Amino acid sequence: MDPIFSVIIPAFNEEEVITESYKRLTQVMSGVGESYELIFVDDGSRDKTASILAEICQKDKSVKCIRFSRNFGHMPAITAGMDYARGEAVLVIDADLQDPPELFPEMIAKWREGFDVVYGQRKERQGETAFKKWTAAMYYRFLRSMTQVEIPVDTGEFRLISRKVCDAMRRLPEKNRYIRGLVSWVGFRQTAVGYVREKRFAGQTKYPLTKMFKFAMDGITAFSYKPLKWAAVLGGVISLLSFLYLAFAFCRWIFTSAAAPGWGGVVLFFQGIVLMAIGLMGEYIGRVFEESKDRPIYIVQEVLNGD
Ligand code: UDP
Ligand code: MG
Repeated sequence: MDPIFSVIIPAFNEEEVITESYKRLTQVMSGVGESYELIFVDDGSRDKTASILAEICQKDKSVKCIRFSRNFGHMPAITAGMDYARGEAVLVIDADLQDPPELFPEMIAKWREGFDVVYGQRKERQGETAFKKWTAAMYYRFLRSMTQVEIPVDTGEFRLISRKVCDAMRRLPEKNRYIRGLVSWVGFRQTAVGYVREKRFAGQTKYPLTKMFKFAMDGITAFSYKPLKWAAVLGGVISLLSFLYLAFAFCRWIFTSAAAPGWGGVVLFFQGIVLMAIGLMGEYIGRVFEESKDRPIYIVQEVLNGD
């Protein structure tokens, strides 16, 4: 029999927290009083995460574990969870307990009221650097200003989605899966519950700055091509200004035979802008290339307690 609830927990090198997350999730979900499955997705962990999960799976048959052949990333891990989930409602939560599982009953209540997406919205973030808080806050507002899709600010992957939304998500063939954006794109009735994001239970963030930057670019490129338009507009404005400057320099040379100052600097400056625009195009073209190869989003090495 299919369970009513599926909980997806992506985990990459989370040996310090995984036992505790299992405990807290089991406590919350058994309190709900309906059948459930916990789906841990081990995203190619190189620590003891895999063996800890294997032990848990042996004892508890409501826990499934999907183990990837290598580290594919947070979004592919959640995608796999959605592919394997059988519940009527699917919940997603990070392994590190930054998002409180105790909020699930509230999300479930909203789902029972008829909402298809209930996302957790961070009212406050604890135990994160000022830099991360500030860049995140700026980023979500910037992203919202760039897209037609209403992507709510200050949300992560902590949410409940209904079976309908899960099926709709699975029909999206794209490989670059900026899930929080795709869920908004899919539509249906959506609502938020507010919460305080706590600090990690243990361990380090698995999102170093380079990954964070790539992730930010994924979000922008997947939902907007405005940056490309800006490059064109900027190019137009600069051409016009350069033309005016050229006319000025030419007149000055005719009438006073003074050469225009600072040419080298001006040329370098504009070449920098041209290279930036090409780089920006590269961000898009690289992603088109990734999509066109049509490789699978993830490769599964083994599934524990699968059917
Ligand atoms: N994660 C993953 N694969 C990765 C990176 C992260 O499955 O390549 C998982 C990680 O184990 C955690 C969640 O994604 O459950 C969020 O990662 P993290 O807490 O490190 O990010 P932060 O909260 O610092 O942004
Ligand atoms: Mg975290």
